[in-house]
Amino acid sequence: MSTVFNWQLGRAMDFPYDAAFPAQQFAFVFNLNRCIGCQSCTMACKSTWTFSKGQEYMWWNNVETKPYGGYPQHWDVKTLDLLEQANPGGQKWGGTSKDLKAPYGTFNGKTIFEAAKTNISPEGAQKALGYLPTDEEWAGPNRFEDNPTGAQKGAEGQYFKGGEALPQHKTWFFYLARICNHCSYPACLSACPRNAIYKRPEDGIVLVDQERCRGYRKCMEACPYKKTYYRGTTRTTEKCIACFPRIEGRDQQGGGLPMQTRCMAACIGHIRLQGLVQMNQDGTWKEDRYNPLYYLIHVAKIALPLYPQFGTEPNGYYIPPRWVPRPYLKQMFGPGVDAAIERYTNPDRELLAVLQLFGKDMRICFRYEIKEGPKIFETEIRGKKFEMYNDTIIGYSKDGTKIIETTVEEPLHVRDQKHANSI
Ligand code: SF4
Ligand code: SF4
Repeated sequence: MSTVFNWQLGRAMDFPYDAAFPAQQFAFVFNLNRCIGCQSCTMACKSTWTFSKGQEYMWWNNVETKPYGGYPQHWDVKTLDLLEQANPGGQKWGGTSKDLKAPYGTFNGKTIFEAAKTNISPEGAQKALGYLPTDEEWAGPNRFEDNPTGAQKGAEGQYFKGGEALPQHKTWFFYLARICNHCSYPACLSACPRNAIYKRPEDGIVLVDQERCRGYRKCMEACPYKKTYYRGTTRTTEKCIACFPRIEGRDQQGGGLPMQTRCMAACIGHIRLQGLVQMNQDGTWKEDRYNPLYYLIHVAKIALPLYPQFGTEPNGYYIPPRWVPRPYLKQMFGPGVDAAIERYTNPDRELLAVLQLFGKDMRICFRYEIKEGPKIFETEIRGKKFEMYNDTIIGYSKDGTKIIETTVEEPLHVRDQKHANSI
Protein backbone atom coordinates (compact mmCIF):
# COMPACT_ATOMS: atom_id res chain seq x y z
CA MET A 1 0.00 0.00 0.00
CA SER A 2 1.27 3.49 -0.79
CA THR A 3 -0.13 7.00 -0.87
CA VAL A 4 0.38 8.48 -4.31
CA PHE A 5 -0.47 11.71 -6.05
CA ASN A 6 -2.93 11.28 -8.91
CA TRP A 7 -2.68 14.48 -10.97
CA GLN A 8 -5.76 13.59 -13.03
CA LEU A 9 -7.77 13.71 -9.78
CA GLY A 10 -5.85 16.68 -8.38
CA ARG A 11 -5.23 14.89 -5.08
CA ALA A 12 -3.46 12.12 -3.22
CA MET A 13 -5.00 8.64 -3.10
CA ASP A 14 -4.23 5.20 -1.69
CA PHE A 15 -2.85 2.65 -4.12
CA PRO A 16 -2.68 -0.96 -2.92
CA TYR A 17 0.84 -1.57 -4.23
CA ASP A 18 4.24 0.13 -4.17
CA ALA A 19 4.14 2.96 -6.70
CA ALA A 20 7.13 3.41 -9.00
CA PHE A 21 7.35 5.78 -11.92
CA PRO A 22 9.03 5.06 -15.23
CA ALA A 23 11.52 7.46 -16.81
CA GLN A 24 9.22 7.72 -19.82
CA GLN A 25 5.58 6.76 -20.16
CA PHE A 26 3.79 5.24 -23.15
CA ALA A 27 0.78 7.49 -23.88
CA PHE A 28 -1.61 8.23 -26.72
CA VAL A 29 -4.28 10.66 -27.93
CA PHE A 30 -7.33 9.54 -29.92
CA ASN A 31 -9.42 12.18 -31.70
CA LEU A 32 -12.97 10.81 -31.44
CA ASN A 33 -14.27 13.44 -33.84
CA ARG A 34 -12.55 11.53 -36.63
CA CYS A 35 -13.10 7.84 -35.85
CA ILE A 36 -15.24 6.16 -38.53
CA GLY A 37 -15.44 2.76 -36.86
CA CYS A 38 -13.67 1.01 -39.72
CA GLN A 39 -11.90 -1.42 -37.34
CA SER A 40 -8.62 -1.29 -39.28
CA CYS A 41 -6.90 -0.79 -35.91
CA THR A 42 -8.67 -3.82 -34.46
CA MET A 43 -7.63 -6.06 -37.35
CA ALA A 44 -4.04 -4.73 -37.38
CA CYS A 45 -3.72 -5.77 -33.74
CA LYS A 46 -5.53 -9.07 -34.21
CA SER A 47 -3.40 -10.13 -37.17
CA THR A 48 -0.22 -9.26 -35.28
CA TRP A 49 -0.74 -10.61 -31.76
CA THR A 50 -3.98 -12.58 -31.19
CA PHE A 51 -4.52 -14.88 -34.19
CA SER A 52 -3.72 -18.16 -32.38
CA LYS A 53 -5.79 -20.88 -30.80
CA GLY A 54 -7.38 -19.76 -27.54
CA GLN A 55 -7.23 -16.09 -28.51
CA GLU A 56 -10.35 -16.09 -30.68
CA TYR A 57 -12.42 -13.77 -28.49
CA MET A 58 -9.52 -11.47 -27.55
CA TRP A 59 -9.59 -7.96 -28.96
CA TRP A 60 -6.71 -6.06 -27.35
CA ASN A 61 -7.83 -3.14 -29.52
CA ASN A 62 -11.58 -2.75 -29.89
CA VAL A 63 -13.85 -0.02 -31.22
CA GLU A 64 -17.31 0.16 -29.67
CA THR A 65 -20.32 2.35 -30.35
CA LYS A 66 -21.39 4.59 -27.51
CA PRO A 67 -23.68 4.86 -25.63
CA TYR A 68 -24.98 1.30 -26.10
CA GLY A 69 -21.97 -0.70 -27.22
CA GLY A 70 -19.24 -2.12 -25.04
CA TYR A 71 -16.68 -4.91 -24.96
CA PRO A 72 -17.37 -6.61 -22.62
CA GLN A 73 -20.96 -5.42 -22.66
CA HIS A 74 -21.67 -2.46 -20.37
CA TRP A 75 -18.15 -2.60 -18.82
CA ASP A 76 -18.20 1.09 -17.96
CA VAL A 77 -21.82 1.31 -16.78
CA LYS A 78 -21.27 -1.65 -14.50
CA THR A 79 -18.18 -0.17 -12.84
CA LEU A 80 -19.81 3.26 -12.56
CA ASP A 81 -22.77 1.55 -10.92
CA LEU A 82 -20.54 -0.29 -8.42
CA LEU A 83 -18.90 3.01 -7.50
CA GLU A 84 -22.26 4.71 -7.11
CA GLN A 85 -23.43 1.93 -4.80
CA ALA A 86 -20.25 2.29 -2.74
CA ASN A 87 -20.53 6.07 -2.53
CA PRO A 88 -24.15 7.11 -3.26
CA GLY A 89 -24.37 10.61 -4.66
CA GLY A 90 -20.73 11.31 -3.83
CA GLN A 91 -18.94 10.76 -7.15
CA LYS A 92 -18.44 14.47 -7.83
CA TRP A 93 -15.73 16.84 -8.97
CA GLY A 94 -14.94 20.13 -7.28
CA GLY A 95 -12.32 22.85 -7.20
CA THR A 96 -10.96 24.69 -10.18
CA SER A 97 -8.48 23.80 -12.84
CA LYS A 98 -4.95 24.68 -11.74
CA ASP A 99 -1.44 23.71 -12.75
CA LEU A 100 0.04 20.39 -13.84
CA LYS A 101 -1.00 18.93 -10.49
CA ALA A 102 -4.75 19.54 -10.86
CA PRO A 103 -5.64 20.48 -14.44
CA TYR A 104 -9.27 19.29 -14.07
CA GLY A 105 -9.90 20.43 -10.49
CA THR A 106 -10.28 17.87 -7.68
CA PHE A 107 -12.23 14.63 -7.65
CA ASN A 108 -14.05 14.37 -4.32
CA GLY A 109 -15.54 10.91 -4.85
CA LYS A 110 -14.04 7.47 -4.39
CA THR A 111 -11.70 5.69 -6.78
CA ILE A 112 -11.97 1.94 -7.36
CA PHE A 113 -9.12 1.48 -4.86
CA GLU A 114 -10.78 3.59 -2.17
CA ALA A 115 -14.24 2.10 -2.70
CA ALA A 116 -12.86 -1.45 -2.47
CA LYS A 117 -11.92 -0.96 1.19
CA THR A 118 -15.54 -0.79 2.28
CA ASN A 119 -16.81 -3.47 -0.07
CA ILE A 120 -15.92 -6.61 1.85
CA SER A 121 -17.06 -9.88 0.27
CA PRO A 122 -16.88 -13.37 1.85
CA GLU A 123 -13.44 -13.67 0.20
CA GLY A 124 -12.25 -10.49 1.92
CA ALA A 125 -11.72 -7.02 0.49
CA GLN A 126 -10.83 -6.59 -3.16
CA LYS A 127 -7.73 -4.60 -4.07
CA ALA A 128 -9.84 -2.62 -6.54
CA LEU A 129 -13.61 -2.50 -6.82
CA GLY A 130 -14.54 -4.60 -9.83
CA TYR A 131 -16.35 -7.60 -11.28
CA LEU A 132 -15.60 -10.51 -13.55
CA PRO A 133 -17.56 -10.30 -16.81
CA THR A 134 -19.46 -13.39 -17.95
CA ASP A 135 -18.58 -15.30 -21.13
CA GLU A 136 -21.72 -13.87 -22.74
CA GLU A 137 -20.59 -10.32 -22.05
CA TRP A 138 -17.31 -10.91 -23.90
CA ALA A 139 -18.99 -12.69 -26.80
CA GLY A 140 -20.29 -9.80 -28.91
CA PRO A 141 -17.72 -7.02 -29.24
CA ASN A 142 -19.88 -4.99 -31.58
CA ARG A 143 -23.36 -5.65 -30.32
CA PHE A 144 -25.41 -2.42 -30.43
CA GLU A 145 -23.18 -1.22 -33.29
CA ASP A 146 -24.31 2.07 -34.81
CA ASN A 147 -27.43 2.38 -32.65
CA PRO A 148 -28.03 6.06 -31.91
CA THR A 149 -29.87 7.49 -28.96
CA GLY A 150 -31.71 10.74 -28.34
CA ALA A 151 -35.07 12.16 -27.50
CA GLN A 152 -36.19 12.87 -31.05
CA LYS A 153 -36.36 10.37 -33.86
CA GLY A 154 -37.16 10.50 -37.56
CA ALA A 155 -40.43 9.23 -39.00
CA GLU A 156 -40.37 6.21 -41.28
CA GLY A 157 -39.31 7.06 -44.82
CA GLN A 158 -38.24 10.61 -43.95
CA TYR A 159 -34.99 12.24 -43.01
CA PHE A 160 -35.08 13.70 -39.52
CA LYS A 161 -34.06 17.33 -39.90
CA GLY A 162 -33.87 18.44 -36.28
CA GLY A 163 -31.08 16.33 -34.88
CA GLU A 164 -27.83 17.39 -36.43
CA ALA A 165 -27.15 21.00 -35.44
CA LEU A 166 -24.15 21.79 -33.21
CA PRO A 167 -23.32 22.42 -30.42
CA GLN A 168 -25.08 19.17 -29.47
CA HIS A 169 -26.94 16.73 -31.68
CA LYS A 170 -30.33 15.59 -30.42
CA THR A 171 -29.81 12.15 -31.93
CA TRP A 172 -26.29 10.82 -31.52
CA PHE A 173 -23.74 8.06 -31.16
CA PHE A 174 -19.97 7.90 -31.50
CA TYR A 175 -17.18 5.38 -31.82
CA LEU A 176 -14.90 4.80 -28.86
CA ALA A 177 -11.63 3.10 -29.80
CA ARG A 178 -9.88 1.47 -26.86
CA ILE A 179 -6.69 -0.34 -25.92
CA CYS A 180 -5.05 -0.95 -22.54
CA ASN A 181 -4.21 2.43 -21.04
CA HIS A 182 -0.89 1.28 -19.53
CA CYS A 183 -2.07 3.06 -16.42
CA SER A 184 0.25 4.80 -13.98
CA TYR A 185 -1.58 3.02 -11.12
CA PRO A 186 -2.63 -0.23 -12.80
CA ALA A 187 -5.49 -1.98 -11.04
CA CYS A 188 -4.58 -5.21 -12.86
CA LEU A 189 -1.07 -5.16 -11.40
CA SER A 190 -2.18 -4.32 -7.88
CA ALA A 191 -4.71 -7.17 -7.80
CA CYS A 192 -2.47 -9.99 -9.03
CA PRO A 193 -1.79 -12.45 -6.18
CA ARG A 194 1.18 -13.89 -8.11
CA ASN A 195 2.99 -10.58 -8.80
CA ALA A 196 2.89 -11.62 -12.43
CA ILE A 197 2.13 -8.16 -13.80
CA TYR A 198 4.80 -5.49 -14.01
CA LYS A 199 5.26 -1.98 -15.36
CA ARG A 200 8.46 -1.46 -17.32
CA PRO A 201 10.70 1.25 -15.84
CA GLU A 202 11.91 2.41 -19.25
CA ASP A 203 8.52 3.16 -20.87
CA GLY A 204 5.72 2.36 -18.39
CA ILE A 205 4.30 -0.45 -20.56
CA VAL A 206 2.30 -2.90 -18.42
CA LEU A 207 2.98 -6.59 -19.16
CA VAL A 208 1.89 -10.00 -17.85
CA ASP A 209 4.74 -12.44 -17.14
CA GLN A 210 3.43 -15.61 -18.75
CA GLU A 211 5.73 -17.80 -16.62
CA ARG A 212 4.31 -16.46 -13.35
CA CYS A 213 0.63 -16.11 -14.32
CA ARG A 214 -1.65 -18.91 -13.08
CA GLY A 215 -4.85 -17.57 -14.60
CA TYR A 216 -6.61 -16.53 -11.38
CA ARG A 217 -8.21 -13.66 -13.34
CA LYS A 218 -7.95 -11.19 -10.47
CA CYS A 219 -6.57 -8.69 -13.00
CA MET A 220 -9.69 -9.13 -15.15
CA GLU A 221 -11.86 -8.45 -12.13
CA ALA A 222 -9.85 -5.38 -11.09
CA CYS A 223 -9.18 -3.62 -14.41
CA PRO A 224 -12.03 -1.10 -14.76
CA TYR A 225 -11.42 -0.93 -18.52
CA LYS A 226 -11.56 -4.73 -18.83
CA LYS A 227 -8.39 -4.90 -20.88
CA THR A 228 -6.92 -8.22 -19.71
CA TYR A 229 -8.16 -11.47 -21.26
CA TYR A 230 -8.08 -15.11 -20.17
CA ARG A 231 -6.72 -17.67 -22.62
CA GLY A 232 -8.14 -21.12 -22.02
CA THR A 233 -5.44 -22.97 -23.98
CA THR A 234 -2.61 -21.70 -21.77
CA ARG A 235 -4.66 -20.94 -18.64
CA THR A 236 -3.01 -17.57 -18.38
CA THR A 237 -4.09 -13.98 -18.87
CA GLU A 238 -2.88 -11.93 -21.80
CA LYS A 239 -3.13 -8.25 -22.62
CA CYS A 240 -1.96 -5.49 -24.95
CA ILE A 241 1.84 -5.33 -24.97
CA ALA A 242 1.94 -1.86 -26.63
CA CYS A 243 3.83 -3.47 -29.55
CA PHE A 244 6.98 -3.03 -27.42
CA PRO A 245 9.44 -4.22 -30.07
CA ARG A 246 8.27 -1.29 -32.20
CA ILE A 247 8.48 1.20 -29.32
CA GLU A 248 12.06 0.00 -28.74
CA GLY A 249 12.91 0.66 -32.40
CA ARG A 250 13.33 -3.03 -33.25
CA ASP A 251 10.86 -3.13 -36.14
CA GLN A 252 12.84 -3.16 -39.39
CA GLN A 253 10.44 -0.70 -41.03
CA GLY A 254 11.47 2.02 -38.58
CA GLY A 255 15.15 1.93 -39.49
CA GLY A 256 16.07 1.71 -35.80
CA LEU A 257 13.79 4.58 -34.71
CA PRO A 258 10.94 4.08 -32.19
CA MET A 259 7.70 3.30 -34.01
CA GLN A 260 4.05 3.75 -33.08
CA THR A 261 2.06 0.59 -32.34
CA ARG A 262 0.32 -1.37 -35.11
CA CYS A 263 -3.15 -0.05 -34.24
CA MET A 264 -1.91 3.55 -34.38
CA ALA A 265 -0.04 3.11 -37.66
CA ALA A 266 -2.98 1.33 -39.33
CA CYS A 267 -5.59 3.97 -38.45
CA ILE A 268 -6.99 5.23 -41.73
CA GLY A 269 -9.02 7.91 -39.96
CA HIS A 270 -5.77 9.47 -38.71
CA ILE A 271 -7.34 9.79 -35.28
CA ARG A 272 -4.33 8.46 -33.35
CA LEU A 273 -1.08 9.92 -32.11
CA GLN A 274 1.09 7.85 -29.80
CA GLY A 275 4.37 8.58 -28.13
CA LEU A 276 6.48 8.62 -24.99
CA VAL A 277 6.36 11.40 -22.40
CA GLN A 278 8.99 12.27 -19.79
CA MET A 279 8.07 11.66 -16.15
CA ASN A 280 9.06 13.27 -12.84
CA GLN A 281 9.75 11.06 -9.88
CA ASP A 282 6.43 12.03 -8.26
CA GLY A 283 4.45 10.71 -11.23
CA THR A 284 3.67 14.08 -12.81
CA TRP A 285 4.82 14.85 -16.34
CA LYS A 286 8.09 16.70 -16.94
CA GLU A 287 7.56 19.88 -18.87
CA ASP A 288 8.35 19.10 -22.50
CA ARG A 289 6.58 21.94 -24.30
CA TYR A 290 7.13 20.76 -27.85
CA ASN A 291 6.33 17.09 -27.37
CA PRO A 292 2.96 16.82 -29.20
CA LEU A 293 1.34 14.74 -26.46
CA TYR A 294 2.48 17.14 -23.74
CA TYR A 295 1.12 20.02 -25.80
CA LEU A 296 -2.29 18.42 -26.48
CA ILE A 297 -2.82 17.23 -22.90
CA HIS A 298 -1.18 19.88 -20.72
CA VAL A 299 -1.02 23.05 -22.82
CA ALA A 300 -4.01 22.99 -25.20
CA LYS A 301 -5.86 20.63 -22.81
CA ILE A 302 -8.02 19.27 -25.60
CA ALA A 303 -7.22 15.60 -24.88
CA LEU A 304 -8.71 14.15 -21.69
CA PRO A 305 -8.29 10.85 -19.79
CA LEU A 306 -10.95 8.13 -20.09
CA TYR A 307 -12.91 7.82 -16.84
CA PRO A 308 -10.24 9.50 -14.68
CA GLN A 309 -12.48 8.98 -11.64
CA PHE A 310 -11.64 5.25 -11.65
CA GLY A 311 -8.26 6.34 -10.24
CA THR A 312 -5.80 4.26 -12.29
CA GLU A 313 -4.41 7.38 -14.04
CA PRO A 314 -4.88 5.96 -17.54
CA ASN A 315 -2.39 7.07 -20.19
CA GLY A 316 -4.96 7.05 -23.00
CA TYR A 317 -6.38 10.52 -23.78
CA TYR A 318 -9.32 11.48 -25.97
CA ILE A 319 -10.41 14.58 -27.84
CA PRO A 320 -14.15 14.38 -27.04
CA PRO A 321 -16.69 14.20 -29.90
CA ARG A 322 -18.13 17.67 -30.17
CA TRP A 323 -21.74 16.74 -31.03
CA VAL A 324 -22.45 14.58 -27.98
CA PRO A 325 -24.48 15.87 -24.98
CA ARG A 326 -22.06 17.31 -22.44
CA PRO A 327 -23.31 15.49 -19.29
CA TYR A 328 -22.50 12.18 -20.98
CA LEU A 329 -19.04 13.36 -21.98
CA LYS A 330 -18.32 14.84 -18.56
CA GLN A 331 -19.04 11.53 -16.90
CA MET A 332 -16.66 9.86 -19.34
CA PHE A 333 -13.83 12.40 -19.53
CA GLY A 334 -14.23 14.63 -16.47
CA PRO A 335 -14.78 18.37 -16.08
CA GLY A 336 -12.35 19.45 -18.83
CA VAL A 337 -14.88 18.65 -21.58
CA ASP A 338 -16.39 22.10 -22.22
CA ALA A 339 -13.03 23.84 -22.52
CA ALA A 340 -11.60 21.04 -24.68
CA ILE A 341 -14.48 21.15 -27.16
CA GLU A 342 -14.44 24.93 -27.28
CA ARG A 343 -10.75 24.95 -28.12
CA TYR A 344 -11.01 22.11 -30.63
CA THR A 345 -13.94 23.75 -32.40
CA ASN A 346 -12.10 27.04 -32.77
CA PRO A 347 -8.41 26.05 -32.83
CA ASP A 348 -5.59 28.56 -32.67
CA ARG A 349 -2.65 28.52 -35.02
CA GLU A 350 -0.45 26.13 -33.04
CA LEU A 351 -3.24 23.65 -32.34
CA LEU A 352 -4.24 23.50 -35.99
CA ALA A 353 -0.65 22.73 -36.93
CA VAL A 354 -0.18 20.05 -34.23
CA LEU A 355 -3.41 18.31 -35.32
CA GLN A 356 -1.73 17.70 -38.69
CA LEU A 357 0.75 15.29 -37.03
CA PHE A 358 -1.91 12.60 -36.53
CA GLY A 359 -1.33 9.63 -38.81
CA LYS A 360 1.43 11.27 -40.83
CA ASP A 361 4.24 8.83 -40.04
CA MET A 362 4.60 5.44 -38.37
CA ARG A 363 7.61 6.59 -36.34
CA ILE A 364 7.12 8.28 -32.95
CA CYS A 365 7.31 12.07 -32.96
CA PHE A 366 9.16 13.31 -29.87
CA ARG A 367 9.33 17.01 -30.75
CA TYR A 368 7.80 19.43 -33.23
CA GLU A 369 8.54 22.88 -34.51
CA ILE A 370 6.38 25.20 -36.59
CA LYS A 371 7.45 27.47 -39.46
CA GLU A 372 4.95 30.24 -40.00
CA GLY A 373 3.18 30.59 -43.35
CA PRO A 374 0.70 33.05 -44.89
CA LYS A 375 -2.92 33.59 -43.81
CA ILE A 376 -5.16 31.67 -46.22
CA PHE A 377 -8.64 31.87 -44.72
CA GLU A 378 -10.73 33.86 -42.28
CA THR A 379 -14.25 33.35 -40.97
CA GLU A 380 -16.43 33.51 -37.89
CA ILE A 381 -17.27 30.36 -35.91
CA ARG A 382 -20.33 30.86 -33.66
CA GLY A 383 -19.51 34.48 -32.99
CA LYS A 384 -15.72 34.08 -32.74
CA LYS A 385 -13.16 35.09 -35.33
CA PHE A 386 -11.19 32.23 -36.87
CA GLU A 387 -8.02 32.70 -38.90
CA MET A 388 -6.22 29.95 -40.74
CA TYR A 389 -2.52 30.12 -41.60
CA ASN A 390 -0.73 27.74 -43.89
CA ASP A 391 2.00 26.95 -41.36
CA THR A 392 4.43 24.06 -41.79
CA ILE A 393 4.90 21.62 -38.92
CA ILE A 394 8.04 19.53 -38.69
CA GLY A 395 8.28 16.45 -36.46
CA TYR A 396 11.47 14.89 -35.11
CA SER A 397 12.28 11.43 -33.79
CA LYS A 398 14.12 10.71 -30.53
CA ASP A 399 17.57 11.22 -32.07
CA GLY A 400 16.59 14.44 -33.89
CA THR A 401 15.93 12.80 -37.28
CA LYS A 402 13.28 14.70 -39.22
CA ILE A 403 10.36 12.31 -39.78
CA ILE A 404 7.46 14.61 -40.72
CA GLU A 405 7.09 17.84 -42.65
CA THR A 406 3.59 18.88 -43.58
CA THR A 407 1.50 22.00 -44.05
CA VAL A 408 -1.87 22.95 -42.57
CA GLU A 409 -3.42 23.20 -46.03
CA GLU A 410 -3.13 19.89 -47.81
CA PRO A 411 -1.20 20.38 -51.05
CA LEU A 412 -3.19 19.80 -54.23
CA HIS A 413 -1.42 17.63 -56.79
CA VAL A 414 -2.81 17.63 -60.34
CA ARG A 415 -1.99 14.45 -62.19
CA ASP A 416 -0.10 15.00 -65.42
CA GLN A 417 -2.16 14.39 -68.57
CA LYS A 418 0.04 11.46 -69.60
CA HIS A 419 -0.88 9.67 -66.33
CA ALA A 420 -4.56 10.60 -66.46
CA ASN A 421 -5.65 6.99 -66.71
CA SER A 422 -3.00 5.29 -64.56
CA ILE A 423 -2.13 5.01 -60.87
S1 SF4 B 1 -6.15 -0.46 -18.61
FE1 SF4 B 1 -6.50 -2.21 -17.22
S2 SF4 B 1 -5.09 -3.79 -18.01
FE2 SF4 B 1 -4.35 -1.83 -18.80
S3 SF4 B 1 -2.83 -1.12 -17.26
FE3 SF4 B 1 -4.84 -0.16 -16.75
S4 SF4 B 1 -5.70 -1.54 -15.24
FE4 SF4 B 1 -4.07 -2.71 -16.28
S1 SF4 C 1 -8.61 2.53 -37.64
FE1 SF4 C 1 -8.87 4.59 -36.74
S2 SF4 C 1 -10.77 5.36 -37.76
FE2 SF4 C 1 -10.76 3.12 -38.03
S3 SF4 C 1 -11.90 2.35 -36.23
FE3 SF4 C 1 -9.72 2.32 -35.66
S4 SF4 C 1 -9.44 4.25 -34.57
FE4 SF4 C 1 -11.36 4.47 -35.74
